[in-house]
Amino acid sequence: MATRKALIAGNWKMYKTARDGCQLAEAVARGCGQVDQRGDRQVLLCPPATILAAVAASVSGSTILVGAQNVCWAGEGAFTGEISPTMVRDAGGQAAIVGHSERRQLFFENDELINQRLRGGLAHGLLMLLCIGETLAEREEGRTFPILEGQLRQALAGVTTEEMARVVVAYEPVWAIGTGKTASKEQAQDAHAFVRGVVAEIFEKSVAAQTRILYGGSVKPGNVDELMAQEDIDGALVGGAALDPEAFIRIVNFR
Ligand code: PEP
Repeated sequence: MATRKALIAGNWKMYKTARDGCQLAEAVARGCGQVDQRGDRQVLLCPPATILAAVAASVSGSTILVGAQNVCWAGEGAFTGEISPTMVRDAGGQAAIVGHSERRQLFFENDELINQRLRGGLAHGLLMLLCIGETLAEREEGRTFPILEGQLRQALAGVTTEEMARVVVAYEPVWAIGTGKTASKEQAQDAHAFVRGVVAEIFEKSVAAQTRILYGGSVKPGNVDELMAQEDIDGALVGGAALDPEAFIRIVNFR
């Protein structure tokens, strides 16, 4: 897996109020103690924005990172309903997800908007997780690679080589999210190798070699080891299983 440090990120989506969220975060922090000593992997929790500060406080003193599930490009302003990268940092967060398929599909976020969010988060010092992925129809029509390439090129437009050190790409086939259907390890590896190739074309090979590419889509304790054994898979973005401390801790401790 080259020198890339694995990242296991939990996307809690719109689940958990403060008390339950802090309990979950504390259980994860307790269960991931060994991760600190290993040093070959990082853990990121992305709770709902309302409990970001509480969750960040509950894991302070551990190496667990906390992030937002989406972020605005501006530091502040008249953007009703949004949270800014400055606010994420003020709450104790260090990262943000952008481009999740639920944002794309349910809230009609397009590549241009995702590009703005990504660049804004980077400009304000956040670690940014950029989600991309094809729908089932797009896969069946043989359009997986052009879709991934289009999403990547548009989202990364204007991002500098230096900023790329803080970009993590998450390949999340839409048909595998929350469905219990996981891409096979071969399907995932093929997509990841393709994504790395596109990053090499946009920037350069050395940048692509350092870029972490996570797999997301029904990652569970039972499939994480074979996924993580693939050359171009550098971690996982975990939805459903991130709400179960035992399952998430096992995923973090992939072999
Ligand atoms: C996600 O929401 O990013 C995700 C991958 O969800 P799940 O693990 O439940 O498929």
